[in-house]
Amino acid sequence: MLEKMEKEFDPEQVIKEFEDLTKNAKRVQTEILSKILKENCEAEYLKNCGLDGKTDPESYSSCVPLVTHKELEPLIQQIADGAPYPILTGKPITTITLSSGTTQGKRKFVPFNDELTETTMQIYRTSFAFRNREYPIGNGKALSFIYGSKQFKTKGGLLAGTATTNVYRSEQFKKTMKAMQTPCCSPDEVIFGPDFQQSLYCHLLCGLLFRDEIQVISSTFAHSIVLSFRTFELVWEQLCSDIKTGTLSPQITCPTIITAMAKILKPNPELANTIIEKCLGLTNWYGLIEELFPNVKYIYGIMTGSMEPYLKKLRHYAGGIPLLSADYGSSEGWIGANVNPTRTPEMATFAVLPNIGYFEFIPLKEANVASQDHAERGSELVLLEPRPVGLTDVEVGEEYEVVVTNFAGLYRYRLGDVVKVVGFHNSTPELQFVCRRNLMPTINIDKNTEKDLQLSVEAAAKLLASEKLEVVDFTSQVDLSSEPGHYVIFWEVSGEASEEVLQESCNCLDSAFVDAGYVSSRKVQAIGPLELKVLKRGTFQKILDHYVGLGSTLNQFKTPRCVGPANQIVLQILCNNVVKSYISSAFG
Ligand code: AMP
Repeated sequence: MLEKMEKEFDPEQVIKEFEDLTKNAKRVQTEILSKILKENCEAEYLKNCGLDGKTDPESYSSCVPLVTHKELEPLIQQIADGAPYPILTGKPITTITLSSGTTQGKRKFVPFNDELTETTMQIYRTSFAFRNREYPIGNGKALSFIYGSKQFKTKGGLLAGTATTNVYRSEQFKKTMKAMQTPCCSPDEVIFGPDFQQSLYCHLLCGLLFRDEIQVISSTFAHSIVLSFRTFELVWEQLCSDIKTGTLSPQITCPTIITAMAKILKPNPELANTIIEKCLGLTNWYGLIEELFPNVKYIYGIMTGSMEPYLKKLRHYAGGIPLLSADYGSSEGWIGANVNPTRTPEMATFAVLPNIGYFEFIPLKEANVASQDHAERGSELVLLEPRPVGLTDVEVGEEYEVVVTNFAGLYRYRLGDVVKVVGFHNSTPELQFVCRRNLMPTINIDKNTEKDLQLSVEAAAKLLASEKLEVVDFTSQVDLSSEPGHYVIFWEVSGEASEEVLQESCNCLDSAFVDAGYVSSRKVQAIGPLELKVLKRGTFQKILDHYVGLGSTLNQFKTPRCVGPANQIVLQILCNNVVKSYISSAFG
């Protein structure tokens, strides 16, 4: 496969391979499971499950338990500590991935190996092939807001870094990007710089220097693109001055970045003047990307799930440039490719690649009925073991939690994501990302999800729009410190909103939750009035800095949408930056 990638990239051949795989999804899944189990039959974990050499799906699901990261954590820790025997995989694991930990506040160790890099490249090539059919690009460059985090050695000497860092450092990544005609316009020293603010600045500078060649603007998650252009608004004059004089801003102090930038930054007053003219000609920065990069064909990054709230701002910067939503995956491995690039990000779906792992799906309808049943009988809530179904047995219109078995030692691993099956591509399902499962803790009988929170914030943000303001970012907390518990929503707003609008927004946030459990609990005051806390400008930047300080990269940063008590530091940052708070009067 690696050799194949190094050869000339043929999009039509990639599409053909994808069509063949997806036409035979069931058979491919059985083969992949068998391959994974054979390759790893020496792993203690599998031996203990009593598979005795069996590799069929039925034996697999009856012998191997469903697990979450919590259950595997001690085993992964043993690997990181250098245990000399095969624990989860046949071949020794030499690299560990650190998940961003931004959704739940805790970073996770996940085993990583070359197969995961290969599957990443397969996903990249597949979605690129489909994208290129609709939006062909010529030879050029990509302005990619990507960042390598520091890699470090675990106690046992294994290399550890974020998934994106592990991928960006690989030779395969560069070869694939080159083959796809979109090498990154920034030098490696910028991507792997030690300070993301300096790297971000230089990414912007490189983008401007190569502005005529830029075909694609991208990042892993859309948040990072929005953050970059918000930063541009603040530093554009400095960037233009650097270009005019050919000298780098004194804010850039990292020696490797300075040396690398010196090779490409030469005085170019003409370019600087063009950019100044473009910027001055814009109204409220609308269409900035289109103006700065005359040959850009599209903007690319994950725009679904917790990224949806940034779409409005991204569209504002993009002007007429199409937004194309990227694929679906995680530190634990990739899942599906966006093979319908013309759909709006809100409608994006992901076709599961049947050969990149073995996938099962826990039906959520069944799980909900089961727990409701228990609630109605007034019995203690015992979660029934949900029975997952195979990749090709999922039903259109239903929601599921994704269970992954990969080549790097995860077996029947619950990813914690909720997806909805919206159709099939040949015989493989097309998924829509719904939300993280159980993100918001329950106070009474409420079952609000991350998606419900997003919709409530969207509804209330419309009120702000009347004052030409926007929600820069938001999160929430379930406050159980007083009886009854209540929801707290934290908002950072782009300017000073009036008292009336904020009070109205607070009421709207409360009444916009549609979950029947929430509404009925609010009516009888079993859940207290929702509280809106308005934050100082720059609070979410502090939260981001906190995660980056922990070694997370900007690539994988996702604002945590609900902050639990385990995430004390973030709670502290939020609480210390509240400037105003409002209590809802929506339910009397
Ligand atoms: P991490 O392992 O930190 O990179 O985070 C992976 C998580 O990001 C996944 O489990 C999803 O919850 C989320 N995610 C990844 N890809 C997408 C996507 N295309 N749409 C929405 N959420 C995504």
